[in-house]
Order: sequence, then C-alpha cells, then structure tokens
Amino acid sequence: MSKSKQEETELIRKQMERTPYREHSAPLFLTSSFVFNSAEQMEALFNGQEEGDIYSRYANPNTSELINKVCHLEEAEAGFATASGMAAVWASMAALLSSGDHILANKAVFGSTYQLLDLVLPRFGIAASFADFSTRESIVEAIRPNTKMLLVESPSNPALQMIDLAMVGKVAREHGIIFNVDNCFCTPILQKPIPLGADIVTHSATKYMDGQGRTLGGLILGSEALIEKITFFCRHTGPAMSPFNAWLLSKSLETLPLRMERHCANALAVAEFLEGHPKIHSVLYPHLPSHPEYELAKRQMRYGGGIVSFEVEGGKAAAQAMLNHTKMCSLSSNLGDSRTILTHPATTTHSKLTPDERVDVGITDGLVRISVGLEHASDIIADLRQALQALSS
Ligand SMILES: *Cc1c(COP(=O)(O)O)cnc(C)c1O
Repeated sequence: MSKSKQEETELIRKQMERTPYREHSAPLFLTSSFVFNSAEQMEALFNGQEEGDIYSRYANPNTSELINKVCHLEEAEAGFATASGMAAVWASMAALLSSGDHILANKAVFGSTYQLLDLVLPRFGIAASFADFSTRESIVEAIRPNTKMLLVESPSNPALQMIDLAMVGKVAREHGIIFNVDNCFCTPILQKPIPLGADIVTHSATKYMDGQGRTLGGLILGSEALIEKITFFCRHTGPAMSPFNAWLLSKSLETLPLRMERHCANALAVAEFLEGHPKIHSVLYPHLPSHPEYELAKRQMRYGGGIVSFEVEGGKAAAQAMLNHTKMCSLSSNLGDSRTILTHPATTTHSKLTPDERVDVGITDGLVRISVGLEHASDIIADLRQALQALSS
C-alpha cells in the first residue's frame, strides 16, 4: 500500500478512474450488472484471467472505491463492503468459523453482537463465551483448545473500557487464533488495529464514516487470504452494500479526518465541563486523566473519541429527567452523527442484559451516553448545563 500522500489527501483524491464524461466528483453506478465486449471477455472475467465488474452483489465501482479508501486508512490488504455493520460482524464470524469452533469475546460488546454470540452462533454449532480482556492472564485462561477467534471493541460501549490491542494481538498470534476488532467507535483516524496485531477489522460505517445519520453500511478489512474467504461467503450469501450507500459513504470519507478531530475536541470539552459539575457522579472519557486506562488510551488513540459517558447523581430517574430537559440535543440510540445524541443505555441499548450483567460491564442506572456532535461546543455545553440545572436537587 503506497503511503506517498497524507490520509486527508488520499481520502479526497483516491477516486475511481474518470469516465469519458470527465466528471470531477465520482459518479454513482446504479446498475445491478455489467456488460461484456465479447463472449471471450465474459469468459476471462468469469474465470478470473481479467479483472472487472460482473454483478453488483460481487463488486461495483462505488463499493470498490469505498473499500480502497478504507483499506488505505486501516493499512489492510483487502476488504468487503456490507449493507450494515451487523452484516460485517456476522460475515466476519460466519465466513471464518465452523461448527465445533469457539469464539471468545470481551464481555462488553455491542448489543446485537452480544445477541449473535449468545443466541445465533450456537444454533450453528459455534460456541461463544465472554471473558475480561483487560489482562493477558484472564484471556489465556478463557482460551479453549477449539478457540478460533478473539473479538473485542475498544473503547467499549458505553462504559468506554480500553482494551490493549497490541497485548491481545500478541496472545492471538501465540495461540494461532484470528483476532477480530470492531473499530467502529474510533474509526481508523484515531486507531489502527491491524498494525497492532488485528487480523480482521469490522466497521459500522453507519456511525462516524457516514457521520450525518443518513445511511447504513458495514466494512470488513484484513489480509488478502482472510478477505478471500469473507468475499466468497458474502458473494454467495448476498449482504453486499448498495452502490448508492457506497457512493454516499465514499464522499463522507473526504471529511472524516476533519470531522473526527472536531468530534473529539468537542467531546473533550464536554467531558471537562461534566467532570466538574456537582450533579455528576463520575465521567468516563478515554483522554481525561481520571480515566482508569488513561495511559493506554493516550498511547492507542490519537484523540479521545466522540463518546462521553457519565453518571448522573440520582440514578435512573435523574438520568431520564436530564434527557427530558435537553432542548437541542437529540434523544436517539444512534451515535457518530453531526447532531449531539443522548442515550440512557440501561433502558435502551442494553436493556436486554440482566441487571447483574449490566453492572458487570459498568452500566449503572444513572449512566448516560453522549455522542458529541459537530455543533459548537459552547452550545452543546449550554444545553447540558441547563438540563442539569433543571434537575431538582
Ligand atoms: C452500530 C454498531 C454496530 C452495528 O452496526 P449497524 O450499522 O447498525 O448494523 C456494530 N458495532 C458497533 C460498535 C456499533 O456501534
């Protein structure tokens, strides 16, 4: 992968080849299939002697452009684009694991990923279990003879626990296990798991990559060898991303570095405001010195990310009242949007967990997750300040 230009430049200039129409901005190819110049070319494309698009379930110029950009960012050899983040997570497991295998995940994973591990994979004879990935010992202890994949998200959602990716990568290599990282929260602008030892990286492009809450999308990145297996699986099971979504996402990537910088600067300002507030019990933000894994977060993430979690004094009632008192911020379960979003994880995204499971992954009843948007930081803070003031003390 040539690294001749800076990321900002590559994301803007790494476009598909211009068509005879001399368009400046990459065009959208809304076509299900492609035609061939001859029967011989058709044969060559089908047997792989010639490269080119055949059918949009396999590949399309728009999805290929998007994959090329994200491969560049993640320092990956190859990738595949899917219709959603969950399609990417599922394909990364279904393509690489078989009946009799075991997958070991950190105990704090995205809600649907948890359901997949807990209820879907066992139906196909793939066992899944959860461990605390904060130390090497606790991972090694949970590895079984048939463990084929380790799965983590760092920082975790919504408790923002940091996992040392280089440490897990080393354990995976020593045991010959595939290391799969969901890098959705950070995007490759903040954190690149592959150079740290990950074999597979997945993304929900729905979040920061789109960045404006318009579309769903997913990506799977990795080595040529692993992506070949994933591509085979996806081509024949059909979770491909639509060309329209790929076109939209590829344009969004042009501003990703700029947006991530601002998301993170705003999030740090929000975290610092909340940390000093008398109605806030605690604040979690990876780049706040009070974060329990601050040193690791500083080493592993370029900026602290766009998500801040905090505990309001007064439990569930106070947390829900604070959400109700906001005037500008949105109440939604999504994240990574230009609009600031507040969520109460215990009653929404993580309501399927038992109370004990929630406590185990750091989700208390007073916990609020804020996905800090791109509005001016002073306006976001003003809305939070008045919402906290409105709480009866
Ligand atoms: C949202 C999300 C997903 C799922 O992505 P969709 O695009 O909604 O399918 C997976 N992992 C993480 C960490 C997410 O935040």
